[in-house]
Amino acid sequence: MCSSRSAYRLACVSGALLVAMIAACRSDSVAGNRRLRAMRDGVSRAESLAARGRLGRARALLLDVETCTIQDGDPDDIEGCTMSVPGVSPSDPWLEQSGGIYEPAQTDPISIKFSGPVHFVALVSDGALKCSGASIGRVVGYLGGSQVASVPNALTDSTDCGEDDVTFGVTGGLDSNAVVDSLVIQGVDPWTFDVEGASGRALLNYTITFVAGWPCGGSTADARDSIRTMYDSTVIFTGQPYKPACSDFVSSVSTSHFTWAELSSQLVHSYGGSLIGVFSATLLGPTGIDSVRGAYGAALTLNSTYRDPRKNYMVGSTAKNSPHMHGTATDIATTSMTWQAVHDSAGNVPGARVLSATQDPSCSSTCVHVDWP
Ligand SMILES: [Zn+2]
Repeated sequence: MCSSRSAYRLACVSGALLVAMIAACRSDSVAGNRRLRAMRDGVSRAESLAARGRLGRARALLLDVETCTIQDGDPDDIEGCTMSVPGVSPSDPWLEQSGGIYEPAQTDPISIKFSGPVHFVALVSDGALKCSGASIGRVVGYLGGSQVASVPNALTDSTDCGEDDVTFGVTGGLDSNAVVDSLVIQGVDPWTFDVEGASGRALLNYTITFVAGWPCGGSTADARDSIRTMYDSTVIFTGQPYKPACSDFVSSVSTSHFTWAELSSQLVHSYGGSLIGVFSATLLGPTGIDSVRGAYGAALTLNSTYRDPRKNYMVGSTAKNSPHMHGTATDIATTSMTWQAVHDSAGNVPGARVLSATQDPSCSSTCVHVDWP
C-alpha cells in the first residue's frame, strides 16, 4: 500500500492517472514503476522509503544534539527543536521544485531564511530527476549575507538510474562545520525530459535537517565560533576544507621546554578569561618544538605559533593556507648570527619541515619557520 505522503501528492493528479499510479504502487511491477517515473515523479514506495532511510542514517550521526527538521508539505511545522519555522520562498509549493507538465512549474531556487545561525545542515529529497542531467542541484549557504559554502548534491542511489536514466532523489547539505543563517537550494537541469518515449519531469520534495545555534557557544557565538568563522572565507579562497573543532582550542598547554606564556604570547582571542589557540599534538610532542630546542642546545624564543586566518593575513604571510592556521607551525626567533644554527637544528628533527629564507620572506633573518605537516 502506498504511504500517506504519496497519497497526498497524488491528490491533484487526474483520475485515470491516479488509478494507474495506485495500481503500479500496489503491484510494484517494473513496468508500473517506469510508468510512474515517466508520468509523474518516479516515487515508488520502496524508493521513497529508501530516501527517508538515508536521512535516518544521517541524523543518527548527530548523536544526541537537537536536530531540527523541516519538510515539504508542512509549511507551519518544524520538528525536533524549538526554533521558529524558517522563512521559505517561494512559500507555495513549500520546499518543492518541479518541471511543469501537469501543474505550474516551480523551477526557481528555494531560499530559506533561518531565525538565527544554524549548522549541521543536511538535505534529502525524494521525487524524480534525470540521472545524466547537466545539474542535479546544489546547496549554497550564507552567513550575514556572505556566501560561506556551496556544495553540489549527489544522487541518493546512482545504481538506481538503470535504463530509463531517471532516479528518485538527491542528498546534499553543507560541511558539518559550516554555520549559516540562510540557504539557497538550486534545482536540477533539465526539468522536463523524455523517459523511454514518454514525457517526464523532475520533481524534488525536500527534507532539511539542521542544528540551531553555533557549534561552540550554542545560542551565542563565543570566541571559538568567531575564529572558526574566519576559516569559511579562507576555505573558499584556498579550497582547503580545514577548520578547527571547538575542542581544538586550548588555553593551558605546555611542553618540557616551553610554558603556556611562551606559547601564547602572540595569541589575540580570549575564551573564559584565557587566551586560546590551536596547537597540534605533534608540535607539542617529543618530536616537536622540544626536539628543536634539544638539537639547538640553548634557549629558544617562539615568535609566532598559532595564528587565526585574520592574524595570519595581518602579519603579511604569503601562505594562503598557512600551517600556522592549523596549529602545526612555529616561527623561532633568531638574529642574523643565530639564524643558520637554528635552521640546521630544526632541519635535523625527523618529520619537521624547515623553510629557507627565500621560502619565508616574512621571517627573513628574524626567525626560522618550522612546521610539522
Ligand atoms: Zn612561519
